[in-house]
Amino acid sequence: MSLPRHTIAVLGGGPGGYEAALVAAQLGADVTVVDSDGLGGACVLTDCVPSKSLIETSNAMTLLNRADGLGIATGGLATVNAARLYHRITDLARAQSRDITARLAAENIRVIRAEGRLAGPGTVTAGGEQVTADAILVATGAMPRVLPGAEPDGERILTWRQLYDLTELPRDLVVVGSGVTGAEFASAYLALGSRVTLVSSRDRVLPQEDEDAANLIEDVFRRRGMTVLSRSRAQAVRRDRDGVTVTLTDGRAVTGSHCLLTVGMVPRTGTIGCDEAGVKLDAHGFIEVDRVSRTSAPGVYAAGDCTGVLMLASVAAMQGRIAMWHTLGEAVGPLRLGHVAATIFTNPEIATVGVSQRAIAAGEVAARTLKLPLATNPRAKMAGYTDGFVKLFTSPGTGVVLGGVIVAPRASELILAVSVAIEQRLTAEQLAHTFAVYPSLSGSVTEAARKLMEFTTDGP
Ligand SMILES: Cc1cc2nc3c(=O)[nH]c(=O)nc-3n(C[C@H](O)[C@H](O)[C@H](O)COP(=O)(O)OP(=O)(O)OC[C@H]3O[C@@H](n4cnc5c(N)ncnc54)[C@H](O)[C@@H]3O)c2cc1C
Repeated sequence: MSLPRHTIAVLGGGPGGYEAALVAAQLGADVTVVDSDGLGGACVLTDCVPSKSLIETSNAMTLLNRADGLGIATGGLATVNAARLYHRITDLARAQSRDITARLAAENIRVIRAEGRLAGPGTVTAGGEQVTADAILVATGAMPRVLPGAEPDGERILTWRQLYDLTELPRDLVVVGSGVTGAEFASAYLALGSRVTLVSSRDRVLPQEDEDAANLIEDVFRRRGMTVLSRSRAQAVRRDRDGVTVTLTDGRAVTGSHCLLTVGMVPRTGTIGCDEAGVKLDAHGFIEVDRVSRTSAPGVYAAGDCTGVLMLASVAAMQGRIAMWHTLGEAVGPLRLGHVAATIFTNPEIATVGVSQRAIAAGEVAARTLKLPLATNPRAKMAGYTDGFVKLFTSPGTGVVLGGVIVAPRASELILAVSVAIEQRLTAEQLAHTFAVYPSLSGSVTEAARKLMEFTTDGP
């Protein structure tokens, strides 16, 4: 006699939802995914994938514009065909969403394309249907936060989700907000040829990030011609005849052709029946979860941006998978946020993993620190990269690698070596004994580890 299959309902088809659905199907469950806007979610259709595609083009522009220095004679300044660029980006995003749709279909996962909501224990309603399930995963994501007095109009006052509907490159872009999203778009549009003003309410850009990295990138921004307004809080954005005016709280006004608002995200939890289902929200509307993604309601899990845990696609996907492993009886460890590798895709990129300099400075972690400028790396010299560094943190007692920050072109790829070291509890010595290609940027990671070995034997 065969046992009945577990049934799983997933609300939301972004990385939190679809990755969970794939794991549940792999474990033999009968899975239904309810999604309103397209599989892949905001991650694939409007946020992560489109922005990273735009940034690829902007990196190509950076390279083209310094071709002269590399000994290449070009016919003049490279310019962007905005319509073609945005077309490429939206095509790419749709193609990736189609790939995910095909993948779910191949695993016999049922998809309902509709808005859904929780409707009592073990029940989700969507598109006039009731889906009952042994366990439910909520992964409804988040939306751009809107500032009162700065409502987007989709033409001149924009959220990042509206950029790809433009037909031309913003001539004079005012970016409000200097967190990760603001810094990435400001960096990209500057390289694409827009004049860019970055309005930052704090002392420096990227206030939550490694201070050395943030200072370096702000210096790069200013050197490349960006106007960075520090300690400047936007109060309102007004549309003028053919431009925008951003009014700051101190009364100053900043004008531009377009304004991009990057002032955070709000969770999509307001209309999905959390109250009725007994799913507790925090003061900001995020779903409260434990480290195996359980909510306060039995049988209801949550993953991704709607939980506000760490708004990254990789974290959303891991939270979703953990939920499924947990509910389907697999051995599972709790989510380990201390091991998450993340990148800010400015030019150069900033990649981080493990403990932070801030935690070390606050005395929360004891660590040795070593920072090696990228400019001394032979490969960097050949490529003409002057801005960047590799920074490693190791335990003073054992020499075990605790964390790292890499600022470099493709730091997102280089950080893997540090991630592996942290995950496998490698020491600086073990990392230093690892072969790196000569010449390579990753050679700076092993060189930094070598220098930390000197520290270990000679003392700080
Ligand atoms: C500009 C930008 C760039 C980013 N770049 C990166 C990056 O480089 N790397 C990275 O790791 N992360 C990046 N992120 C973060 C990443 O996009 C999110 O962390 C990720 O999308 C979260 O996935 P999710 O599944 O929680 O939600 P989402 O991707 O938002 O998906 C949620 C899905 O739920 C659906 N939904 C919502 N409500 C309902 C409902 N009631 N019924 C049915 N369906 C519903 C939506 O239609 C959507 O498809 C970026 C974010 C932004 C804003």
